[in-house]
Amino acid sequence: MDAQRRKRINLYKKIIVAFVLATILIPLILCVALFMQVGALKKEVSNLNQLRNEYYTKFEEINAALQESLALKADAEAADNQENADLEQIADVSKVTQGLEDELVDEAVVTTITDKAVITDNTTEEKNTTDEAEVVVKQAKPAKEIKGTVYLTFDDGPGANTHTILDILAEYDVKATFFVNGKDAETYADEYRRIVAEGHTLAMHSYTHNYSKVYASVDAFMDDTIRLRNHLYDITGVVCDIYRFPGGSSNTVTKINIRRFAEALDAEGIVYFDWNVASNDATNPILSVEEIYDNVISGVVNRDMSVVLMHDLKDKVTTVEALPLILDYLKTNGYEVLALDKDVTPVQHVKLGS
Ligand code: ZN
Repeated sequence: MDAQRRKRINLYKKIIVAFVLATILIPLILCVALFMQVGALKKEVSNLNQLRNEYYTKFEEINAALQESLALKADAEAADNQENADLEQIADVSKVTQGLEDELVDEAVVTTITDKAVITDNTTEEKNTTDEAEVVVKQAKPAKEIKGTVYLTFDDGPGANTHTILDILAEYDVKATFFVNGKDAETYADEYRRIVAEGHTLAMHSYTHNYSKVYASVDAFMDDTIRLRNHLYDITGVVCDIYRFPGGSSNTVTKINIRRFAEALDAEGIVYFDWNVASNDATNPILSVEEIYDNVISGVVNRDMSVVLMHDLKDKVTTVEALPLILDYLKTNGYEVLALDKDVTPVQHVKLGS
């Protein structure tokens, strides 16, 4: 009886111990398992955070680059528009001036002839009067033989078309001016050197031709210009002293007064040239051969001295095609075609000190 009772008590004890152990151990094990899981999740969250930050940084960089390229595009478009607007204005003014000049010249010739005729009439017979008048007309003719001087200028080269342009200029035996940019010396050494070797004027435009950088400050502007001058000297041995502002001196891109840049150029002995005839070949899409030809010829015929703006750029193929037609006209109509030098009175939209 006793033994049986003790056995039962032992069994109860075992059951109680097992129950106590179970209620302690099971939550403990569960707790440990949960802690491990929380740890793993924390690690995963921090990995995701890091990844998100990396993507965010990349996005910022791409966005910044995009904004910069949009700003540059806007700058370039603004400069192009300004170039064209200025040229139209200059062309109008010049047409009016030329018209007045022509009238004055005509009047002067008529007056001279009349005066001579009157004097002769008083002293000799009628026949002699006619002779005198003829002589005066004949004397006036040779002066009209050279109708004008044309300086063809090519901006933004050298490039894929430079050799073809040089071939055409050689064929017509005329000289031009190349306002070049800072292109890779190894790729374009031949073009730079050929411009010089064939007697054309190697002139400076811009090393980077990046409006935002070039016009950021007077120092940045001169750094770009001197860098280009050194680049050209290293390749050709020529110290260039003629310059053309990207967008012209009348560009609206720069926030700094253009005269400050002009003074800095002057201090380095550099003269800048704008243009008074535009081929308008910088427009997009490109103009036809006929349009470029008409733009150049209609500008040239009104002037004694023309500085013609054209571009030496890969996609400006109609410029190259129009060139022989333009030269045909100039040569058969009494124009001399020359390269710019420092002795030529510069055509400047904004003049230093004005
Ligand atoms: Zn340019």
